Parts: sequence; structure tokens; C-alpha cells
Amino acid sequence: MDTAAHSPLETIAAHTKSDNGIRTLLNYIGGAWVDSHGKEFLPVMNPSTGQQIGKVPLSTAQDVNDAVRAAADAFDGWSRTPIKERVQIFYRFKTLMEKHFDSLAALVNEENGKIMGEAEAEIAKAIEVTEFACSMPQLTSGEIQEVSKGVECRIDRHPLGVVASITPFNFPNMVPNWTIPNALVLGNTMILKPSQLVPLSSIRIAELLKEAGLPDGVFNVVHGAQETVEALCDHPVIQAITFVGSTKVAKIVYARATSHHKRALCLGGAKNHLIVLPDANEEMSATNIAASMSGCAGQRCMAASAMVGVGPVDHIVDRLCEEAKKIVPGKNLGSVISKEAKERIERYITEAEEQGAQVLVDGRNAVVEGKEGGYYVGPTVLDYVRPDMRIAQEEVFGPVLSIMRTETLDEAIDIENSNPYGNAAAVFTQSGGMARYVIERASAGMIGVNIGVPVPREPFSFGGWNESKFGACDITGKSSIEFFTKQKKTTIKWNPEARTNWMS
Ligand code: NAD
Repeated sequence: MDTAAHSPLETIAAHTKSDNGIRTLLNYIGGAWVDSHGKEFLPVMNPSTGQQIGKVPLSTAQDVNDAVRAAADAFDGWSRTPIKERVQIFYRFKTLMEKHFDSLAALVNEENGKIMGEAEAEIAKAIEVTEFACSMPQLTSGEIQEVSKGVECRIDRHPLGVVASITPFNFPNMVPNWTIPNALVLGNTMILKPSQLVPLSSIRIAELLKEAGLPDGVFNVVHGAQETVEALCDHPVIQAITFVGSTKVAKIVYARATSHHKRALCLGGAKNHLIVLPDANEEMSATNIAASMSGCAGQRCMAASAMVGVGPVDHIVDRLCEEAKKIVPGKNLGSVISKEAKERIERYITEAEEQGAQVLVDGRNAVVEGKEGGYYVGPTVLDYVRPDMRIAQEEVFGPVLSIMRTETLDEAIDIENSNPYGNAAAVFTQSGGMARYVIERASAGMIGVNIGVPVPREPFSFGGWNESKFGACDITGKSSIEFFTKQKKTTIKWNPEARTNWMS
């Protein structure tokens, strides 16, 4: 492992242009670092200090077209390279991520504002996904069967072609790596459009892939925002789009990409409910729920956003508040992504208070000494939130837990099921029967039992239900094989004496 460079920005300096000390980012197309044709730029901020650390171009349809051409040119050679050779590059990529673990985490910390421990966990997960991709040769060997005397059917998997991956701000390294290793090992070539708020990690990913030996053009990075994404959705050569971000944009991207007959998988936002029963282990529930609502400053699509307490759970709420008070901005709690995000989150809290919610722990107006310009919101626990309040219905995406109370488990399940999202849900209880009852009825793709952030580990696939995901398949794990490949079915008869039947 390396030690973090003096400034994480030094690790990407070679592939940015310095403009009065501010780094201007370049696109990565066909193995070369190139200027965007776009004339507009957005600032890249360090959210924990509020200082500008870079400038990202808003790339145009021409930039997208250049990247598509490079990816299409690389496709033939890459897709014809045997998978056992393709995977060797990803063994090396994994080793390089391990070697540069500290500086990769420092870069995430710099551009996203999450604390170092969380940034390290993000890199560890990116490594785990790469490790899974390295098992693709074992997972994707074809199927073959003699279907009638002397006649065989076989199925081979083929890559789709050029695919695009559009990613959000909250995991600058991990979410791009949800798709890069799997899609590329399976023989596709890719254009990554990272979030314009956190575009730095993608530069380092491109550098490490090149160092690992990935042929030029197989992986490309085009920076930008809405216009860039629209050009990706519209480009006739791109075969498939994956998107991770808010539900509002997931719906737009899904509709636009599929209207051009592309395969699309668009993961959206979340409103995850944790149902807490009175028999739940007090310490395990309180620590798990506090960590779930505040980890990554609540900016996780798997974060606990709502807790539904069934019956007498005051002892757990009290303990939960004690745990929440141990979470201190700037120490074990990172910043939120922007000034606008901080203001939006604080507005939700104030509105809920005005509507009658009790503020048990108040994270508004948090200031971190020495980082006064940072965008911090402290952990916030609101009790007696009603299901009809805005804070109970919408994704807040901050370290805020809304507690609702019910008399029965069925009422709690009704509250969970009536929210439009369906990423995660969890139940805290010591009763196997009660847990099973919730597992069967909760309308969500990922369920936790006494676990606040029930992210499936590889090889299990990541993906929600309802308005948290549009399109078939999940984005990681075995399900991603289905998304990133198409099957060819071949029926073969060599022997003229093979039995003739209705299909031959
Ligand atoms: P976002 O939807 O604002 O942006 C995501 C991507 O879409 C970015 O690359 C952005 O440039 C692009 N984009 C933004 N507006 C666009 C538009 N009008 N047309 C086309 N493209 C557009 O999301 P965000 O704020 O970066 O990320 C936070 C959201 O992502 C939260 O809702 C969170 O729940 C969700 N998320 C979901 C998952 C999941 O697995 N379901 C994982 C991580 C984050």
C-alpha cells in the first residue's frame, strides 16, 4: 500500500491542466487525455472546506461522438480477446488499487467530503467488485446439451458492444467500479460519465486501468452533466446505458435511452424504512441505526431514513439518541456534498418541526472549527413524524432519521409499503418469526435483519425495487452478467445418421 500523497490532487496532476493553480480536467478518449470541445466549466469543490479544487468541462455531443468512435474501434479487438486474457488485466487492476489504496481513499475524501474511514470502505468495496469480475471466466462458461440424438444446442454469451455508465456524486470510486470491471471483463467497451461534482476519482481509475494494460479505447471518460448524458442516450452506436442517481433523472435517462432501443438499467433514489420491535436487542439496534442514518452523512442510497417503532420502543429511541450524540461533524461525520444540499436538509428538519415533529437530536447549524466553509449537518433524530409529512415521504439524503410510531407490525409494514421507493428495508427483532413476516411483506429489493445497511456482498447482486430501479437485472453480482451480455443459441448436427425429428 502507498501512503497518501501530500495532497490527493497530486496523484492526478499529470492528467489535468493547471490554470492559475486550479486544475482543469481533461477527457480520456482512446487512451489520450484531451480537451473537451465544451466552452463551459463547473467548479469542483472540496465540500469539507468549501474551497474550489478543480474545474470540470461540460462536454458536448462532439466529445461523446469522439469517445464512441474510440470505444467502437477498440471493441473488435477487445471482444475477440479470450476472457481468460481479458481478466488478467483486472487482476493487475485489483493489485494496483490495493497498492494505491490510501491515495485512492484520500482522493474520495477530498472531492466527496466523507471521512477517511468511509472512503477506505468505498475503495475496499470497489476492490471486492473487481475481485468478482475476475471470477467471470468461471461464471460464464457456456451451456451445452444433446437435445435429440446427434443434435446439440449450445449457448454462448457475447458482449453488447459500446456501453455507457453514468454515475452519481456519493461514491466517486465505488459506483463507477460497480460497472467497469464486470462490463469490460465481459468484452464490452465503455464510456464513463462521472458526476460533475466528483470527477477526480475517475481520472485515477483511467490511469490505473491503463497501467494494468487495458488497450486504448476500451475505457473512456467524458466529463459533463445533462447535455453529455443526453448525447450518450441518443448516440446510435451505444448499445446499453447504466445509470445510478436520483429517481427523477433515472426516469428521464431510462425513457430516453430505451426510446432509442438501448438496453437500460437505471438505479434511482431511496427512502429506506427500518421497523423496530420492542424485543430488539437495544445496543445492536441503536448502534446499527445510528450508523446507518449518519454514515457518509446520510448520503447513501442504503441509509436509514425512516424508523417505524412498533409499540413500546422508547428504550431503543433513548439509546439511539445517545449513540447519535457521539457522532460529531468533522470528526466521525463528514460533510454533505454542497451548500445547497446543507440548506435543503436543514429546511426539511425545520419544516418537520413546524409540523409537530419533536427534534430529539438537532444537527442544524453545525460548524467545524478550522473548516468553517465546509458543508456540515450534524446527526438529527426527529420523533413523532407522521407518514403524511414531506420529510416522511421524500428522500432527504442527509444524516436525518424520522421516527414514526405504530401500534402494530402490520401498520408499520403498510407505512413501508406505501412509500414509492423500494431500495432497502430492515427489521430489528430477536424473533425469527417476526423477521420472516417482514422479509415476506416489505416491498424492497434488499432487506436487512438487525442490519441497518443491508448491502449484498459479492456475488449477490445490488438492486432495489419500485421507483429505486428502472429496467431488468441488478447492477452488480451475477445479475450483471445478464445485463452486460446477450446470448447466442446455436443448434448443431454433424453426423448425417443423427435422428431426424421435428426440429431437424
Ligand atoms: P443525480 O440524479 O443528480 O445525478 C446523477 C447523474 O445524472 C450525474 O452524472 C449527473 O451529471 C446526471 N444528471 C443530472 N441531471 C441530469 C439530467 N437532467 N439529465 C441527464 N443527466 C443528468 O444524482 P446525484 O445527486 O449525483 O446522486 C444522489 C442520488 O443518487 C440519490 O437520489 C441517491 O439515492 C441515488 N443513488 C442511488 C443508488 C442506487 O443504487 N439506487 C446508489 C447511489 C446513489
